[in-house]
Amino acid sequence: MLKIYNSLTRKKEVFKPIQTGKVKLYVCGVTVYDYCHLGHARTYTAFDVAIRYLQWRGYDVTYVRNITDIDDKIIKRANENKEDFHELVKRYTTAMHEDFAALGMTKPHHEPTATEFIPQMISMVDKLLENKKAYIASNGDVYFSVRDFENYGCLAHRNIDQLESGARVEINDVKQDPLDFVLWKLAKPNEPQWESPWGAGRPGWHIECAAMSTSMLGNTFDIHGGGKDLIFPHHENELAEAEAATQEKFVNLWMHAGFLQVAKEKMSKSLGNFFTIRDCLENHAPEVLRYFLMTSHYRSQLQYADETIIQSRNALERFYTALRDMPSAEALVDSAYEEKFVNAMDDDFNTPIAFSVLFDLAHEVQRLRASDLALASMHAALLKKLGKVLGILQDDPHDFLMNEKKNSDVDVEKVNALIVARNEARAAKLWAEADRIRAQLTEMKIVLEDNAEGTVWKHE
Ligand code: AMP
Ligand code: ZN
Repeated sequence: MLKIYNSLTRKKEVFKPIQTGKVKLYVCGVTVYDYCHLGHARTYTAFDVAIRYLQWRGYDVTYVRNITDIDDKIIKRANENKEDFHELVKRYTTAMHEDFAALGMTKPHHEPTATEFIPQMISMVDKLLENKKAYIASNGDVYFSVRDFENYGCLAHRNIDQLESGARVEINDVKQDPLDFVLWKLAKPNEPQWESPWGAGRPGWHIECAAMSTSMLGNTFDIHGGGKDLIFPHHENELAEAEAATQEKFVNLWMHAGFLQVAKEKMSKSLGNFFTIRDCLENHAPEVLRYFLMTSHYRSQLQYADETIIQSRNALERFYTALRDMPSAEALVDSAYEEKFVNAMDDDFNTPIAFSVLFDLAHEVQRLRASDLALASMHAALLKKLGKVLGILQDDPHDFLMNEKKNSDVDVEKVNALIVARNEARAAKLWAEADRIRAQLTEMKIVLEDNAEGTVWKHE
């Protein structure tokens, strides 16, 4: 029985799609004005795993992931570059596709762009005005009126007054309530714009997803998701818009992924603490990065550290070493390993436990290798089959192991041993010894960073 955590009810629920055997799923996509960073990859890998698993469980999944191709950041960046915003969007959309494909993500079935759905957005805004859930402000922009939507705050689990205490009240605000948000924004001179009954302008961000998702998947669909930061205000506002317009339930189950963090802070463009996916791919095999992104449960935070990436590489080396030189065979059937794997994944897609089952399986392959090659190869085939559900272990083992050797010109075990020795020296206040070890590592072109959690290392 598959259970998924629903942010709306804050409970794990038995998954029951609206239509038997079919899943309609919408994930908020990227605002394409720059290269994607590893934080983006964290969220989209989480959904990729969910989709692969649902498919493996036999569901016919329709996966929609939009592209936000018009917004303030895009306009600003296009102006800075003195280029047409379409060109900027095209370039970064292509880059996103390349990066996501490199990380082994399955392609969405539909990838609507906001600018293709302007008529649907206009008609949703129209409906909201007709239903008296929106108003035209004194500056001509159209706003959603949160006080007129009874359930406002249901996803954030806060009422309007609680939410309001955290809202920024701007001077000269034209809004009736600080939480009201824009549905249609009139264009400033030289901005991209579309005609509407309220004047030439462009849609607000939230209405984009509300209109695109309901147009593509129906007024009510199964799963909607994104990273945790989208719960409020983006998803709260989408929910309010869609339900106030259609007067039907919008989404049955809301899934949100935890952040990839660097030194306990969310990896983000605005903080400047990010690594682009393509930069990471320069230094690490794509499968290593993919594995790393799945090492913590998708709802938990994941800490970026070179050490964890190296552990991910070591884990894959162990798997591929087990798969190496195994004759092809049918995968073991009715195995306790598969049952445990399914139980882990049925429990809200618990990849860390699923990995532990794969480790046990790899261990068994190695144990049987010398005594019963036929049985070992059936275990190996099961390892590969279950790996596929997570989008790993499909490479040729020799190729993977050879490439990893080439990539790693440092002896990881030696580095780790030296770091441990240095930490011991420091604990014993043997500063000269600690410095000597650091110098030895510097010679190996390894840079150390000490923080509250311990020591991480990087290539110079
Ligand atoms: P953006 O393009 O910033 O709107 O982000 C696109 C998606 O990536 C959203 O679902 C975000 O929640 C998600 N995202 C952005 N940064 C991170 C991060 N550091 N960790 C996990 N997800 C993230
Ligand atoms: Zn969205």
